[in-house]
Amino acid sequence: MASVTYDSATRRFADGQQPAVDSLDLAVDDGEFMVLVGPSGCGKSTSLRMVAGLESVESGAILIDDVDVVGMAPKARDVAMVFQNYALYPNMTVADNMGFALRNAGMSKSDTAARVREVAEMLELTPLLGRKPAKLSGGQRQRVAMGRAIVRRPKVFCMDEPLSNLDAKLRVSTRAQIAAMQRELAITTLYVTHDQVEAMTMGHRVAVLDSGVLQQVGTPREIYSRPANLFVASFMGSPQMCLIDGRVDAGVVRLGGAEVRVPSSVRSALPSADVVVGLRAESWQVSAAPQAGTLSATVDLVEELGAEQFVYCSADLRLRGSRIVVRVDHRRTIEAGDVIGLTPEVDETYWFDPVSGVALD
Ligand code: ATP
Repeated sequence: MASVTYDSATRRFADGQQPAVDSLDLAVDDGEFMVLVGPSGCGKSTSLRMVAGLESVESGAILIDDVDVVGMAPKARDVAMVFQNYALYPNMTVADNMGFALRNAGMSKSDTAARVREVAEMLELTPLLGRKPAKLSGGQRQRVAMGRAIVRRPKVFCMDEPLSNLDAKLRVSTRAQIAAMQRELAITTLYVTHDQVEAMTMGHRVAVLDSGVLQQVGTPREIYSRPANLFVASFMGSPQMCLIDGRVDAGVVRLGGAEVRVPSSVRSALPSADVVVGLRAESWQVSAAPQAGTLSATVDLVEELGAEQFVYCSADLRLRGSRIVVRVDHRRTIEAGDVIGLTPEVDETYWFDPVSGVALD
């Protein structure tokens, strides 16, 4: 086991270009499951590959257990990588795929076989040990790729979107399996995904990246309940947080007929009267028709999800994004075309500086 520390780690692919990873400072604790998440091209794979030694580091350091590994050969780092495409050897059986690295490192045939059997048992791969990859389902191949990494008992796991080739249902069950296994093995893990649900459900902590720059690192709860800026607020959480440009007047922001009191901590931090108010889908009260003190909204679309429904509305507001989304219990009947009243939950508002995007409380 080991800690992993990025110390101002930077990687630029071409002179004069913006770095793919820009002065990344991030400390991953021993045994921790750290998820790197962000949109396509934000630098998550590059960050991961720098730890494994598959990508060079232009400046800064990467420490594994306090040893700077920059310049060290990938093999010498004791990092096991699990790729999106699994990269299994097609001509080898599952057992040989899993044992390959051990045999290569000089482990005896019988010790290798014992280690492979133990891990195969854990991943429910025992009946498949004699098969070739072509005869496996996507989920089984994914487990073999995991198994191949686990048998090595590395200091660090690096996983690059390992679930993206699985169908939606298998992805959900496999993500729970990987999270449980990581907790059992307690091997320090860096896990890359662009899927914020995967990030929130799997990681002990989540690091959110945008354009090569770390935006925030925290537990899933911290990221959700205290997003550091507009980017994190809108990227994390499904449906997306509704962001509204408003103006503070006499201590309140008016959203149509509704008023939201601005907390004094936000008022004192505001550089001007302009502010962005954020509200999540669960932070609105809904009335069947607009009333005094509510925001009048027209229902454009209702998405039925079984236990609940997402109601997409338009309203006369300066929205950053196209619509307001409201989470409503399945027992309520709301249809497209309805005009409803919305009241923001005062204690569940988020506040941002409209220019810098930084959270204000
Ligand atoms: P994705 O989710 O699409 O894989 P990512 O967040 O993992 O994206 P990276 O693959 O780390 O992003 O890429 C970060 C930036 O670096 C992107 O702008 C990408 O185009 C660029 N980049 C990555 N690899 C190379 C390369 N080998 N040569 C040139 N540019 C690269």
